[in-house]
Amino acid sequence: GARLRFAPSPTGHLHLGGLRTALFNHLLARKWKGKWLLRIEDTDRTRYTEGAVDSLRQALDWAGLDYDEGVGRGGSYGPYTQSERLDIYHHYTKELLSRNEAYECFCSPTELEAIKLSLHQQGLRHSYDGRCRHLTEEEVGRRKRAGHKYVVRYKTSSEEMDIPSDLIFGDNQPTANTGTDDFVLMKSDGWPTYHLASVVDDHLMEITHVLRGEEWLPSVPKHHSLYKAFGWSPPKFAHLPLLCNPDGTKLSKRRGDTFVQHYMKQGYEPEALLNFLALMGWDYHAALSSSSSSSALDPHVRTDGHSLYEVFTLPQIIEAFDVSHINHRKAAVNIGKLDFLNKMTLRRKAGRLGKEGGMIGAGKLEEAEGEKEGERKELIGKFQELLREEKALKGCELVENMDLVEKVFDAELPRAVLLADMPMHSIFYFLPPTYTCHESQSILKDLNPRLYCQYTHLFADTLQSRASTAGHIDEDIVWDIIHSLIDQLKIDKKPKFLIPIRHALTERRKGPSIPELITILGLDESLARLRRGEE
Ligand code: GLU
Repeated sequence: GARLRFAPSPTGHLHLGGLRTALFNHLLARKWKGKWLLRIEDTDRTRYTEGAVDSLRQALDWAGLDYDEGVGRGGSYGPYTQSERLDIYHHYTKELLSRNEAYECFCSPTELEAIKLSLHQQGLRHSYDGRCRHLTEEEVGRRKRAGHKYVVRYKTSSEEMDIPSDLIFGDNQPTANTGTDDFVLMKSDGWPTYHLASVVDDHLMEITHVLRGEEWLPSVPKHHSLYKAFGWSPPKFAHLPLLCNPDGTKLSKRRGDTFVQHYMKQGYEPEALLNFLALMGWDYHAALSSSSSSSALDPHVRTDGHSLYEVFTLPQIIEAFDVSHINHRKAAVNIGKLDFLNKMTLRRKAGRLGKEGGMIGAGKLEEAEGEKEGERKELIGKFQELLREEKALKGCELVENMDLVEKVFDAELPRAVLLADMPMHSIFYFLPPTYTCHESQSILKDLNPRLYCQYTHLFADTLQSRASTAGHIDEDIVWDIIHSLIDQLKIDKKPKFLIPIRHALTERRKGPSIPELITILGLDESLARLRRGEE
């Protein structure tokens, strides 16, 4: 079966590009019913960062990308951390030395600098002239005994090499085949370079497909020549297009919002982030048009410019995905799209996406009812947990009323981008407003205090008498009251009446409909809020 790997270097937090690489490895491994592993490439000691491996694993775990083998999971191809495999790299370096495919180079950094300069002055593109190739065995031995520092370089052959086409970039590999440097395999500190370690490990771990970022495309010729030198057959290579800013410039890492941790902290749904990253490079239109639902290929583009056809769960992506759908155009990171996908993911999990009137992803790939129920419960449980943590609600007993929590959740969901933002907007359901916040003040500023009292009190009285004749209160009754009062008071624009009512009930400008609010708050609490300040 297919074997893939995600091979990050522990140089800091995982960024979006890294998570996307992990995701695409996961997608292909699952699609092909193969396996993928996590390998830690920590041979560059100058860039090693304490805690990076843990942070990386946390991010993968949070995202729900479960690899089959590797660091933290074990497997029969270990160890999966390169710093624990140094013997292996030394063994293979010796092998290349003994076959005369590699040589020791004693040039010092200053010498190398001078060589590079002079080569460039001659208009040559490579940076090392291979002068140590010609050292005799005695000379090498003498320098080693004298304790001179050296690296081991690969003897690049000048003959043209046939490089099989990339699964994503095809033969169109703009930067491939440049430079004929004798590149370094083993550094003077005894640590292997990325090129040697990566090729040796991919071979020993029986990797069939190397799927990684476009920045590694220029390394392909080096890797191919190493496979050839060892007499191994190379895996297939597939490179994912670079991520960029919406204006096409290189993705800036400086704002910190390119790290996965940022989205974890903000409270994004992992499914939404994966959905978002899958759309970067994956031409899902191809998936839609090749699926049998193509007759219904209505893009469902909404007024906000997003399409419900972009909303996928991970199983749906795996189902619809194919390596041929990955394109090599640069993929723009548009966070607005992520917010949209997060909204839709929340609604999907809550079993409320239907209200949008659209279809999910490839359309017919509906999930089992039971699974949805579980996701909804989990989401509402998290919401309750966040309510308990909300400062204003510390120790509030109503937060333990699950029935109320669920009603509040459903009422607030249509305006939510992040679950984490919902508790802040939900406080008034559990505690009477204080009417002191900035939003409250700014609403009041534009209202006539006399009309405010008239409307809220009249509304309260009508509500109370209708409720006592009907023996109960429901949304229809409240709508009916609203419409008849607006008529009776000859109010030309509904908001003139509704804004004060909403303010009295919630101290907010926006929210669920007033009838919905009143059924959630209950008659007594609603009356008390509408009549506050009444002598
Ligand atoms: N260690 C490399 C990185 O950090 C991985 C390159 C590869 O996948 O071959 O991106």
